[in-house]
Amino acid sequence: MAAKAPRNKPQPREIVRQVTDGPYTLTVTVTRDARLRKSVRWTVHEQEIRVRAPQRLSARDLDDVLDDIIAQVLRQRARARKQNDAELEARARALNRRYFNGELQWHTIRWVTNMKRRLGSCTHGGATDGDIRLSARIKHWPRYVVDYVLAHELVHRKYPNHSAEFWAYLARYPHTERARGFIEGVAFAEGDDPDALI
Ligand SMILES: [Zn+2]
Repeated sequence: MAAKAPRNKPQPREIVRQVTDGPYTLTVTVTRDARLRKSVRWTVHEQEIRVRAPQRLSARDLDDVLDDIIAQVLRQRARARKQNDAELEARARALNRRYFNGELQWHTIRWVTNMKRRLGSCTHGGATDGDIRLSARIKHWPRYVVDYVLAHELVHRKYPNHSAEFWAYLARYPHTERARGFIEGVAFAEGDDPDALI
């Protein structure tokens, strides 16, 4: 039985690869983590695949593991992109350019029919980090409201929670207050909590 690994200081994240995925460049970073015994852990943040590997894993074995992880991430991203909605994508890009200096980044956007209550959502972490979904039930709502929901989910790429910074940044979309009023009205009519919708 090996002795317990000493409490380790956080190791630096090292960029080990750059992977091209269409117009995107994914960066693969590795941190050696003495607390891990055998398994490699990984998450995706924006365009970065963060891998934590056991201290003792050989460079060669790590290379094989990275190949597998990258292949898995690329497959999942390709699958998500197939469902990307071109019109929503164009609207999101226009909003990003016009109100957010093109600062926001996401992966895909699409309509979904399985979101009954929520109007929109945005994934964080995992292989499909940055997939934005809008409920198909709002497709025919006023355009400024749909754009608000889109802007709201896009801004979550920068601020995951409803913090003061989130609302201040989202206020760059000029119809925010009016759209929030619209959504409050819908929630009121349905006896729902407006904060549960978006
Ligand atoms: Zn939100």
